[in-house]
Amino acid sequence: MKKVQEDSSRRAALKTMLRGAGLMGLGGAAWGGVADGLQASELTIRPPAALKEAEFVKACIRCGSCVEACPYDTLALATPDDRTAIGTPYFKPRTTPCYLCTDAPCVKECPSGALDIGKITENDLLNINKSKMGVAVVDQNSCIAFWGIQCDACYRACPLLGEAINLKFERNDRTGKHAIIEPVVNRELCTGCGLCEHACITEKPSIVILPVDIANGKAGSHYIKSWDKNDEKRINTTKEKSAVEANTAEDYLNDPESLFDD
Ligand code: SF4
Ligand code: SF4
Ligand code: SF4
Repeated sequence: MKKVQEDSSRRAALKTMLRGAGLMGLGGAAWGGVADGLQASELTIRPPAALKEAEFVKACIRCGSCVEACPYDTLALATPDDRTAIGTPYFKPRTTPCYLCTDAPCVKECPSGALDIGKITENDLLNINKSKMGVAVVDQNSCIAFWGIQCDACYRACPLLGEAINLKFERNDRTGKHAIIEPVVNRELCTGCGLCEHACITEKPSIVILPVDIANGKAGSHYIKSWDKNDEKRINTTKEKSAVEANTAEDYLNDPESLFDD
């Protein structure tokens, strides 16, 4: 009974907030216009299966259905105080991470396609572990594990333990007889759920979730791993003429024209 009351008061609060912001009853087309005038923060962490940020901001109709559907109260709708498009859902992993519900209720309830269930579907089955909300990045200066003090709180908190985060053993040169056990994130597998950031024991988290586009660099088409067949395929997708004409990474790198930009 208490849960029902909480749910209905939460729904009422949501509706009040949306009304207050003048957002109730606006259709998708109207929202497009509002969205155009808004500059979404590049650092905002979105719910699972969100479209790319610019598309997401246009597609989301600010209905709050995903927020209501989340059993952990992970998601919130941005207010004028948040540095992102008002009324769009986001979460702060340090406060409340995403618990990667296997049935993804937030995504299922999204009526606009801004949360695209196809992104977390594999062989016709939901797989929440395919989420890419962001990627965990470790600050090696403040992470005490890199100082040689034992800590594996982030590693233990990770739902993809031993996959998205691994522990790497290094010799502690300072003492000469201990190991330094470092957390290392596998960016391919990390979902950006933020359970590691939530669990980090340092005063300010030494592992934080960043949007993938912010966290990742880009080597560019001048650098291709000739020993990696998958990476070599980039030769065929690059826009540079000399690279397109090259058959292999070795040909491309030996082509003097490929060394100079236009
Ligand atoms: S997957 Fe679950 S915990 Fe994560 S945002 Fe969706 S409903 Fe909330
Ligand atoms: S965000 Fe952290 S806890 Fe979540 S999958 Fe990535 S490394 Fe694991
Ligand atoms: S929980 Fe924080 S301090 Fe501990 S190993 Fe992980 S990132 Fe480092």
